[in-house]
Amino acid sequence: MATQSFDPLKYRTDFPVLDQQVHGKPLIYFDNAATTQKPRQVIQAIAHYYENDNANVHRAIHTLGERATMLYEEARQKIADFINAPAARQIVFTRGTTESINLVAASWGEAFIKEGDEIIVSEMEHHSNLIPWQLLAQKVGAKLRFLPFDENGMIDFKSFEKIFSERTRFVAITNMSNVFGTINPVKKIIALAHEHDVPVLLDGAQSVPHLPTDVQQLDCDFLAFSGHKMLGPTGIGALYAKEKYLQEMPPYQGGGEMIQSVWLDRATWNEIPYKFEAGTPNISGAIGLGAAIDYLQNIGMENITLYEQELTTYALQKMHEIEELTIYGNAPERGAVISFNLGEVHPHDLSHFLDQQGIAVRAGHHCAQPIMRKLNIAATTRASFYLYNTKQEIDFFVEQLKEAVKFFSF
Ligand code: PLP
Repeated sequence: MATQSFDPLKYRTDFPVLDQQVHGKPLIYFDNAATTQKPRQVIQAIAHYYENDNANVHRAIHTLGERATMLYEEARQKIADFINAPAARQIVFTRGTTESINLVAASWGEAFIKEGDEIIVSEMEHHSNLIPWQLLAQKVGAKLRFLPFDENGMIDFKSFEKIFSERTRFVAITNMSNVFGTINPVKKIIALAHEHDVPVLLDGAQSVPHLPTDVQQLDCDFLAFSGHKMLGPTGIGALYAKEKYLQEMPPYQGGGEMIQSVWLDRATWNEIPYKFEAGTPNISGAIGLGAAIDYLQNIGMENITLYEQELTTYALQKMHEIEELTIYGNAPERGAVISFNLGEVHPHDLSHFLDQQGIAVRAGHHCAQPIMRKLNIAATTRASFYLYNTKQEIDFFVEQLKEAVKFFSF
């Protein structure tokens, strides 16, 4: 397998935070779907910017202002290249996935979705790709239609064909589930929607950090993702959109930078993407995200995907040996996210137990309460991996799950 050459230990030393003990045990960080750790290269890029180049962007003629602008725009170009966007102007900097989706719902949605129109979302969406559409639907009188998931945590393309109608005006779906790890059949969904001129937004929060992403090949109309889930800093992310949509969309927020000319009673708008970047942006965040992308590209996204598949298969095999575990999601095409429950043990108790052993996992509804409701559970425990995790960590994690079985006395 290509991953034989992948040595996570080579990268681990780049992540200072991983080199510590928690409750006297080496930290095992398995909460990467929530946020990832940052390599020294990212931390240093941010520090270097503040120590050498800090100034506001697109405003000053002085040297620092020009340098800051150049670094900020270089980061935009890196993001465009990373997802194979045709042009850097199709990348709007946002706070992250949540803001990117809210931007589309508020701007394109309010301008073009009318009473009686239908918006298709799936039942497995993170609240970030559900609530903005609920708010929009309530505001304009549109209706949400829901793409169901089955007992394997998968979406059947046939049900998409079934609920798609002449009233469908928009489709918003996650590329990869943050609960099941399922990689959805988004290419087929996009192709069908496009036969009817319906745009599709992909929530790429979980996919962009872990899978090679090519927006031209996917042909998605919008793609939202977050820097902090891909080794970058918090508070920065991006929205990619096809140029025709960005051109026809009204501004999302008003303020500095997004204008061309302003009179007391009216204004005209800056060109894209600046039309959507009101106010001083997160300059250091953008630069940090650019450094994270450099880091990922040096390793190669294909290598990362393959290695994570290997880790996930390894973990699933071992976890399936523990009969007290229920694992949610069984898609053949999946990412490095495993949700589970240990008998009737509350995920918070299990998570606390694991934390005592230095293992960080997530416990809760994962901002996907409709999934929990459908599964008739309150919460799950979730382990999610990234390029710096190892099989040895998984071995210790599985050992501790076995200890938990004894501790909670089945
Ligand atoms: N969508 C999915 C699938 C996610 O997993 C997350 C974060 O967990 C989000 C959206 C929201 O991302 P952010 O909080 O970075 O905006």
